[in-house]
Amino acid sequence: MPTVHAYAAQNASSPLAPFQIERREVGEGDVQLEILYSGVCHSDIHQARSEWGPALYPMVPGHEIVGRVTAVGERVGRFQVGDLAGVGVMVDSCQHCDSCAEGLEQYCENGHTTTYNSREKPSGNLTFGGYSTSIVVREEFVLSVPGSLDLKAVAPLLCAGITMYSPLRNWKIGPGHRIGVVGLGGLGHMGIKLAAAMGAEVTLFTTSASKADDALRLGAHHVVVSSDRAAMKSARSSFDFILSTVPTSHDLNPYLGTLRREGHLVIVGAIDPVGVHGGVLIAQRRSVAGSNIGGLAETQEMLDFCARHGIVADIELIAMQDINAAYERMVKNDVKYRFVIDMASLKGEQAAD
Ligand code: NAP
Ligand code: ZN
Repeated sequence: MPTVHAYAAQNASSPLAPFQIERREVGEGDVQLEILYSGVCHSDIHQARSEWGPALYPMVPGHEIVGRVTAVGERVGRFQVGDLAGVGVMVDSCQHCDSCAEGLEQYCENGHTTTYNSREKPSGNLTFGGYSTSIVVREEFVLSVPGSLDLKAVAPLLCAGITMYSPLRNWKIGPGHRIGVVGLGGLGHMGIKLAAAMGAEVTLFTTSASKADDALRLGAHHVVVSSDRAAMKSARSSFDFILSTVPTSHDLNPYLGTLRREGHLVIVGAIDPVGVHGGVLIAQRRSVAGSNIGGLAETQEMLDFCARHGIVADIELIAMQDINAAYERMVKNDVKYRFVIDMASLKGEQAAD
């Protein structure tokens, strides 16, 4: 099996460090990519540190992957060597349950396989993500990347972009809707761009007053600083839909109170909501829902939507060797608005070995 250079966490408290992994041989239905860029999602930190429960180690995180096709299996029809391609959060699913049949592989009833922190079927081998120089993925889970966009800023679309796009589409957000996005980070800044492009009136709820100008530049129409009680009060009962990207447990009630009758608050962080008050829900038939990334067809639709609207992420490009510092900065809410790793830095390290 080909040996590939990567960065891995060996346990929940170890920093990421150079590590050699083995990728499978290119099977008849597989696509092999040379990884050019890999985005850094807050989920990478949650999992590398076992914040969602015991994780699988060694772990090579990374599920916002953009690369160039270097080999294809004989049954592969959609890709050729040299094509640009992307891989997101999933690399496999059963392909026959009702959810898969509906293009909702993220809700596969037999459990999808995630790009890392998971086990390949049927081999049982660990999956390894994008903090590496190459990856082999079955064709169905590889996306076509539009060449018209800035490639390094496309990488975050594969998770942050689709995680915002899918709920906006599912709840049919468009012109005439007033929506809120909570948190201006990797996901939130994509949520603003996408919702504004869909024609909604967008308000950012933020804990960081200093991000207000950026939010307006990214396409938000209004900004509410969530610690400003007067501003939260005047926002009461005014939103059709709120998309919350907050990565830690917090009180949802103040946000729920800003929903109109029958409004929805959709959370994407795997958090324990603090004491959601039934009264706030029943008073206006409001609801709280969750949403997980998006299916493959919808992810391709999102990439094509972004190409048509010229949407990419606002990124800070880093070297692989800077990943631990980048994690610390993300935890301190110091990133505008997504770190993306330039994989040329890892190839350089390999050459110097
Ligand atoms: P991120 O870049 O760190 O952004 C999170 C933002 O939330 C911060 O920029 C900050 O915005 C706000 N925030 C942080 N701590 C907060 C607190 N204690 N209270 C209120 N607001 C706070 O993270 P991300 O990569 O966007 O990911 C966000 C969450 O979504 C993570 O938990 C991640 O695991 C999850 N996620 C879910 C899915 C899914 O499919 N469901 C996919 C990807 C990621 P302000 O400064 O504006 O307040
Ligand atoms: Zn992610």
